[in-house]
Amino acid sequence: MPYDNNNIFAKIINGEIPCDKIYEDDFVLAFKDIRPKAKVHVLVLPKNAYMSIDDFGENASPEETKAFFQAVSRIARDIGVEEMGYRVIANHKPYSGQEVYHFHLHILGGQPLGPLVSPI
Ligand code: 5GP
Repeated sequence: MPYDNNNIFAKIINGEIPCDKIYEDDFVLAFKDIRPKAKVHVLVLPKNAYMSIDDFGENASPEETKAFFQAVSRIARDIGVEEMGYRVIANHKPYSGQEVYHFHLHILGGQPLGPLVSPI
């Protein structure tokens, strides 16, 4: 399956669809999730087209990778979740429930988050 240039996050990145922006630089955009799963729920995505963490890990440049993860740390501090803790999730393909096939990390926090997954 190729990258879909019309996916919802591509439209947010190119300004066709609005978002509640938290952070932006040359490589990265972050905004609030439209259906938050915790008191704080922010999505962090590279501006370039990657399908998922697998594609990003394989194909992003060192400069882009560094910028991305530095942005994640900075955003977590800026939104006030670093002190009490937060969770970062990347969904990859159907078993994870990935909904949007443009790579993004979820930053979840602002409350105790409970177990990582349900018991098997
Ligand atoms: P995934 O399951 O792909 O890891 O997560 C996709 C996330 O994107 C979901 O948590 C969903 O609520 C969020 N989302 C889907 N469409 C939009 C949108 O148009 N705007 C924003 N801000 N979030 C969206």
